[in-house]
Amino acid sequence: MKALINIDYTYDFVADAGALTCGKPGQAIEGKISWLTKEFIENGDYVVFAIDVHDQGDEFHPETRLFPPHNLRGTAGRDLFGKLQEVYDQNKHRENVTYIDKTRYSAFAGTDLAIKLRERGITEVHLVGVCTDICVLHTAVDAYNKGFKIVVYKDAVASFNQAGHEWALGHFEQTLGAMVK
Ligand code: ZN
Repeated sequence: MKALINIDYTYDFVADAGALTCGKPGQAIEGKISWLTKEFIENGDYVVFAIDVHDQGDEFHPETRLFPPHNLRGTAGRDLFGKLQEVYDQNKHRENVTYIDKTRYSAFAGTDLAIKLRERGITEVHLVGVCTDICVLHTAVDAYNKGFKIVVYKDAVASFNQAGHEWALGHFEQTLGAMVK
């Protein structure tokens, strides 16, 4: 059984005016990520939206010192970007679609994602979203350590850092044993 993990494809991470944006490379994957998400949902596969959330001025959060405020709770910065929001809105009540808040790079850190996957018998995670070399990477590393097979769609992940993006694609394949397609 497989699941699609949809990571951080939000206004703040993708739109030109987003608070911590990948910019054009992020916008360029809108069609592919939306299409893949729809396909997984319609096939009855489990689809998880794992979306970053922060509280304004959280002095205990390590990202507060590393990045400008982004994906703040209750703001439009957390809306999914473009067509992906429509795909989510049209399908959010289906039993195979779920949305989880995450507060760290990895979708597994501090969430019940692993439990949700295990109870459904899922052994393979398919990853899409941003950024390839930050949240997608950390999610892939955790998936590897937890024994999940990994598939990454190279045209449905993106980063503001092209060198980091390329490096991470190689790392998925050569070090995490992922299928990159
Ligand atoms: Zn964050």
